[in-house]
Amino acid sequence: MIFKNSQYGSWSDPKAQGAQAAIQYAATAWGNMLVSNIEIKIEAYWENLSVKHDSSFLNTLAYARASKLYTLTSNDPNSTIFTNTYYPIALVEKITGNNENQNESEIIMSFNSLKPWSFSLDKTQVQGKYDMVTITMHEIAHGLGFVSSAKEDSVTKVLSHSVMFPFIFDQFVEFGSNKKLTSIASTGSGTTTWLTSNNSFFNGPEVKLKNNTRPEIFCPFTWVQGSSMSHFNENYFIGSDKNALMTPYTNVTEIHHDPGEVGLAVLIEIGWVGAVLPLEEFPYYSNDVIKIFPNPASANIKIRVENGIEISELRMLNIE
Ligand SMILES: [Zn+2]
Repeated sequence: MIFKNSQYGSWSDPKAQGAQAAIQYAATAWGNMLVSNIEIKIEAYWENLSVKHDSSFLNTLAYARASKLYTLTSNDPNSTIFTNTYYPIALVEKITGNNENQNESEIIMSFNSLKPWSFSLDKTQVQGKYDMVTITMHEIAHGLGFVSSAKEDSVTKVLSHSVMFPFIFDQFVEFGSNKKLTSIASTGSGTTTWLTSNNSFFNGPEVKLKNNTRPEIFCPFTWVQGSSMSHFNENYFIGSDKNALMTPYTNVTEIHHDPGEVGLAVLIEIGWVGAVLPLEEFPYYSNDVIKIFPNPASANIKIRVENGIEISELRMLNIE
């Protein structure tokens, strides 16, 4: 984590006391879930977003973006790389194994200094305050690629779904029974109809394995800039659901310190192969083998045993 000040706010703001520890906690949690040989550097700002932008940002808690987008090619016929598709830099570095941008940050994020924040690290709800760890977890996921290219032009108000190329996330988005987002025109009234159809899904083998069916994408009849198409549908994973981290809206009672199996499956689908949820979130049973990635692992492993159950043997094996 790299904490920077801007003309719109400084980390020395008394209201930001404790914020950095919470943000670092979330970044470390992602670091323990993902597999990449290249360190992901995240730059964070504490800013008055309605001064930086305009009053429409009063209700924005935070936002994040990849600092750069790249296209990839592969000579391997079995490659799962999508050509003519934008990948966020952190994912590009995971895939290529190269530090593509040297000392520059891979993800840039901003937190709204006007919002009431809780910097609790242990999922304690603080009345009337948003859980900083939760919001940071959510924003980092966007920076890792949980984001659509779909957007509304600020002047013409025309909707489009790609810049030059669709984002890797878009390759798995479809409408209705099987109309792929990448098969519709990138801009125009037909595009608008699909992007505001309230009938959108994320479809991929990894996600279907974890969710049985295609999870719904947030695609309301009225376009919501910054939220439409880049989240799970708000009512699909309700507040307390384990997968609700990546819905567009949150309230002060929502606390999620991981993306849930389906949320993580979206990231695995787009290329974060090997990502795993925190181990202590999983129940394991007698004779189960617990696989740990990466190997060697640097995270702590906690083993909790139900009352009355004895562990007769615990073996550590270097399997692969
Ligand atoms: Zn979001």
